[in-house]
Amino acid sequence: MSAGRPRATGGLGAVRRGIPAPARTLGSVSAMLERLCSKVGCAREAVTTLTFDYGDQMAALGPLGGGDDPHAHDLCAIHTDRLSVPKGWVVVRHETLRV
Ligand SMILES: [Zn+2]
Repeated sequence: MSAGRPRATGGLGAVRRGIPAPARTLGSVSAMLERLCSKVGCAREAVTTLTFDYGDQMAALGPLGGGDDPHAHDLCAIHTDRLSVPKGWVVVRHETLRV
């Protein structure tokens, strides 16, 4: 609901013409359809959402969630696979994620 910027056909358009492809990546990140891995330095597409349950010391991996949980982190396939949790924690993987 915040896409209130009108398309400029004047000077702004002329400036943006000079921006190469990488600028498009920034645009797609804000799109709701594409979620990226939350790991620093990783720009892969997120495939799972990791949720921490601090009370039970559990890390739950499941399908991409709603995105409004402050304890949820989106992870790509690689980081889902390499997930490590603090000692004593249990990782719970969603049934549908089993390969
Ligand atoms: Zn990743």
